[in-house]
Amino acid sequence: MAYPSSVQSGRVRVLKEGSRPSDREMGPVVYWMFRDQRLRDNWALIHAVDQANKASVPVAVGFNLFDEFLGAKARQLGFMLRGLQQLHRDIQDTLHIPFFLFQGEAIETIPTFLEECGASLLVTDFSPLREVQSWKDEICKRVSDSVSIHEVDAHNVVPVWVASEKLEYSAKTLRGKINKLLPEYLIDFPKMGPPIKKWAATNCFVDWENLITEVVRKGAEVPELEWCEPGENAAMEVLMGSKSGFLTKRLKNYSTDRNNPLKPKALSGLSPYLHFGQISAQRCAIEARNVRKLCPQAVDAFLEELIVRRELADNFCFYQPQYDSLQGAWEWARKTLLVHAPDKREHIYTREQLEKAQTADPLWNASQLEMVYGGKMHGFMRMYWAKKILEWTSGPEDALAISIYLNDKYEIDGRDPNGYVGCMWSICGVHDQGWQERPVFGKIRYMNYAGCKRKFDVDGYIAYVKRLVGEIKKRKAETLLNEKKKELRI
Ligand SMILES: Cc1cc2nc3c(=O)[nH]c(=O)nc-3n(C[C@H](O)[C@H](O)[C@H](O)COP(=O)(O)OP(=O)(O)OC[C@H]3O[C@@H](n4cnc5c(N)ncnc54)[C@H](O)[C@@H]3O)c2cc1C
Repeated sequence: MAYPSSVQSGRVRVLKEGSRPSDREMGPVVYWMFRDQRLRDNWALIHAVDQANKASVPVAVGFNLFDEFLGAKARQLGFMLRGLQQLHRDIQDTLHIPFFLFQGEAIETIPTFLEECGASLLVTDFSPLREVQSWKDEICKRVSDSVSIHEVDAHNVVPVWVASEKLEYSAKTLRGKINKLLPEYLIDFPKMGPPIKKWAATNCFVDWENLITEVVRKGAEVPELEWCEPGENAAMEVLMGSKSGFLTKRLKNYSTDRNNPLKPKALSGLSPYLHFGQISAQRCAIEARNVRKLCPQAVDAFLEELIVRRELADNFCFYQPQYDSLQGAWEWARKTLLVHAPDKREHIYTREQLEKAQTADPLWNASQLEMVYGGKMHGFMRMYWAKKILEWTSGPEDALAISIYLNDKYEIDGRDPNGYVGCMWSICGVHDQGWQERPVFGKIRYMNYAGCKRKFDVDGYIAYVKRLVGEIKKRKAETLLNEKKKELRI
């Protein structure tokens, strides 16, 4: 089942071609939503509806909630589920498409659902992460012969497999390829209406309140964030809201202040939304391009991060299966790191000491606390933070494992190709070049406290994080007190 689609063919990969006997009627289309959790500007949803309309069959969206996925806690799961709760309501109200929530292992729930509804086509969005790729391989094996499976890259502006057919060495080698393809792929989205054929009435009730309460209780070790409102509308507000939207109110500071950790508002703040797919990077790029005349430098810098750097991370994870291990580093970097692994370190900290921000470096401790309490460490500090972990642990493998563990546990945007590549860049020199050799780091780029002091007001940043942590702790204490009071009244 594959009709000509309003989605560019390059965006769609046929993972499995169904073999439908000619006497059998076409079954519905199911979109298994994973990474692109949005209604608007979603090429995977557009493709699913398009294919359903062309075959005159109905379409449904399914989402699978795993019991465990890469250590996500209340912070990440609460944000995701609250976004999905809005999506569930909106997709039914505006597009009249049913939304099903499954719980358990996708390799079981998805084939079972396809079987139950007699689907002919499964559409999924794209993620380069190993786990997701292997589930899809398994689902291809488990579904009946007659089912086709299409994977749509709805996350990247230029589909990862179109941008390049191989592992790219650096931003420099990918940039030209992407820029050449932007006229073809950085285009407006077609308007989408409700599908022509209605799904037979079914009960897709989800008890969101109880589900969220339960998930948040289980993952309470890393609590939800108050400052970051989930959902597509909130994401659009961050991009272009009239109060403090990035493109509407904050854009001009991006080119001058984005490397100053004391000015977090100079950054877009879009990473939580991009990570969970609550906003499309393509939408962000289109809107940024529309205001380029006002601040060309800022827009160009933003598009470099949003498109080139972000899509380079997907390229790395897609073509390098060992994207989170020393084995995934280039030969020169592996060699230099191993030569310097036995070098004497001034300090060695355990994972627990690092997690509790108990180092002798107040700047590093501040960045760790910004992440633990605030849930989003400033981008500049992330580099310093990871490089120091290399300096203070027994070797590069240990440093990489600890940095990924902490990043994935506490960052609201963690468990993302950008995170794996950020840690690999900092510790293993991925997408970087060799620098002057020095102890522990070898030829890996080095960062230190004195360098930060030259770049920004280090004491100011430490004081800023102290205030942030103090305020969060105070609010938490007040909430606990109020809950206790309520309990006593009952
Ligand atoms: C050690 C380390 C860990 C990181 N972990 C993550 C992570 O878990 N999740 C994550 O999304 N980013 C991660 N980054 C990349 C970057 O720091 C964040 O994307 C950025 O700080 C997010 O804030 P923003 O959206 O306000 O940034 P902006 O500067 O406004 O950027 C806009 C978007 O561009 C993309 N982007 C920006 N910088 C980079 C970069 N260096 N590499 C790839 N894409 C980029 C992101 O999608 C970001 O949301 C990490 C970087 C390092 C060095």
